[in-house]
Amino acid sequence: MFDVTRYATAAQSIVEAGRFLYDRGWSPATSSNYSARIDGDHVAITVSGRHKGQLGAGDVMVVDLHGQAVQSDCRSSAETLLHTVIYQLYSEVGAVLHTHSVKATVLSRLIPAGQALELEGYELQKAFNGVQTHEGKLIVPVFDNTQDIPALAEETRDWFARHPEQPGYLIRGHGLYTWGRTMADCLRHIEAFEFLFECELETMRVRR
Ligand SMILES: [Zn+2]
Repeated sequence: MFDVTRYATAAQSIVEAGRFLYDRGWSPATSSNYSARIDGDHVAITVSGRHKGQLGAGDVMVVDLHGQAVQSDCRSSAETLLHTVIYQLYSEVGAVLHTHSVKATVLSRLIPAGQALELEGYELQKAFNGVQTHEGKLIVPVFDNTQDIPALAEETRDWFARHPEQPGYLIRGHGLYTWGRTMADCLRHIEAFEFLFECELETMRVRR
């Protein structure tokens, strides 16, 4: 069982995140999925296929950390396991957001196969938890897109178990995953990534 009040708080944070991310154009139509931790065993997550700019309480459900629905007949997002892996890996994570922005999609297609996106020298790197200076390097792995979500979930588990300081990843031609201690942290990470992706694309354009 889970605490109903904690569920309601988590669901509300997801609804509000959806409005913000849809308004910015980072979660068009029914794309994307969002989650927020309820407790050590339960996560609130968007129901599959719902419009993210118009989410209501009925568009959020509960799953356990293995992605199984709890007290619900709804189907959670197809990518639920990509969320639950992060909650399993990091007990301090309180929210995971996945978006499908144009910049994340385009940039992920421009990174050569087998390489990560490396962000270095940007002041805004300090928007990420634990980053104190622009001098560090943010490494964003790019995983190939697949419909085999359990396999991709294991790939991400393996990579982030070895790189727990890195705050997100791209899926090629698909979108961004990032997380944080709170929904506010997580939304800040999305905004920072979007800014950095735009800088990278702009740099590529100028250098052509
Ligand atoms: Zn997606």
